[in-house]
Amino acid sequence: MEPAAGFLSPRPFPRAAAPSAPPAGPGPPANASPRSEPEVLAGPRAPDPPGRLITDPLSGRTYTKGRLLGKGGFARCYEATDTESGIAYAVKVIPQSRVAKPHQREKILNEIELHRDLQHRHIVRFSHHFEDADNIYIFLELCSRKSLAHIWKARHTLLEPEVRYYLRQILSGLKYLHQRGILHRDLKLGNFFITDNMELKVGDFGLAARLEPPEQRKKTICGTPNYVAPEVLLRQGHGPEADVWSLGCVMYTLLCGSPPFETADLKETYRCIKQVHYTLPASLSLPARQLLAAILRASPRDRPSIEQILRHDFFTKGYTPDRLPVSSCVTVPDLTPPNPARSLFAKVTKSLFGRKKNKNKNHSEDQDNVSCLVSGLMRTSIGHPDVRPEAPVVSGQAPASLIETAAEDSSPRGTLASSGDGFEEGLTVATVVESALCALRNCVAFMPPAEQNPAPLAQPEPLVWVSKWVDYSNKFGFGYQLSSRRVAVLFNDGTHMALSANRK
Ligand code: ADP
Repeated sequence: MEPAAGFLSPRPFPRAAAPSAPPAGPGPPANASPRSEPEVLAGPRAPDPPGRLITDPLSGRTYTKGRLLGKGGFARCYEATDTESGIAYAVKVIPQSRVAKPHQREKILNEIELHRDLQHRHIVRFSHHFEDADNIYIFLELCSRKSLAHIWKARHTLLEPEVRYYLRQILSGLKYLHQRGILHRDLKLGNFFITDNMELKVGDFGLAARLEPPEQRKKTICGTPNYVAPEVLLRQGHGPEADVWSLGCVMYTLLCGSPPFETADLKETYRCIKQVHYTLPASLSLPARQLLAAILRASPRDRPSIEQILRHDFFTKGYTPDRLPVSSCVTVPDLTPPNPARSLFAKVTKSLFGRKKNKNKNHSEDQDNVSCLVSGLMRTSIGHPDVRPEAPVVSGQAPASLIETAAEDSSPRGTLASSGDGFEEGLTVATVVESALCALRNCVAFMPPAEQNPAPLAQPEPLVWVSKWVDYSNKFGFGYQLSSRRVAVLFNDGTHMALSANRK
């Protein structure tokens, strides 16, 4: 087949702000192969030195070759920058010697043919390709944080919200592929690429194929052994359900740390796959176990569709973060679901003290901030004659003088961010104080009347405030210590447990 050099015009991508690998952390080196996804090594050849120019022989465009991103079956992948536009790409460099045989060349052309027209947020964007006497060059969207395989190597297991975050993006990309009649046929951690801003993109269309009617499907066994579906092993062909199976294996690997059918011996692995013999750890949530059990079914017909997967309790009842911190590439992230009370606290802190949340601050500083917030609120409320239990505040309106008091009170501790810098859109001191007052009014409204309180509570008490706290509300509840040194926990089910002052 004739080489299809230079028949695509470059489609630019926004340049990645700071293409960089995940920060170094524990675990094996980032370029090591995952146990479950053996890397097929290219033949012995000296690596091309970085910095060399790549020139498109037809257009004359030049690209500076940067760092090596990884090696695949045929290709080495480098960062490459268009010398004129400055646009950064990932370029797959395939030596002509590796595709000398017609079937090898056909494989690369098939990959280009299937990939070039795909345009989806969660599919690696194909830009353009050309070849010279030495190599074929395929220019792709740069995914500077490499792949889920690299994250898995550093982390081994991910939290369920993280798994939902990644799976939702894979499912979105996969749905697009299937709708276009394309099967990926090699869904594995190493083919889920991660961009600079932690977005996932499905890539590597080296084994992809067009969906054919069952009787016309090729019966070749392809894919990564650990993730191959039983019907593929039984040479019944590869349909969309086989991609769904692989996705189930990916989900299992991310949650449990190793693939469901991994054994020391490939034959044994294939036996386990055909018999669907695997274990579901009790440590997984019930919805996670139920979804895995639904996907890993021997008969393709019994597996859920992509839509059904997305409607499963695992996705609908569990929290999925909007984005993940970059640090989650190497360490367990703190993924406490957004808590309206907490964000109100954060907003009030910001408005009263003008401090921005410092990512690196330690826990005790957090505690100080909350103490500050609570005592600040108390000071402003107590110091103002309008805020008395018997002086009702008109709903939806904070007294202007209280707002002034708040502003004055906070000024010595920092700038009051009443507009612009550090202040969220539509958030003013008035709205923040109003929300705080509203929350306090609700508390007061639902308190039992003083006469119903046990005798000691009915007595006027000295002012106490929360001096320390620990928020485990994503699991158990909220623990705190009062300025009186009394320690208590408010459990998520509403139960309140307190130690008496002598801690007995
Ligand atoms: P092959 O098709 O020869 O197996 P791959 O597509 O797997 O080649 O690419 C080899 C390696 O290059 C991958 O493991 C990955 O580390 C890196 N890579 C591939 N595409 C990209 C990309 N778009 N952005 C960043 N790295 C990439």
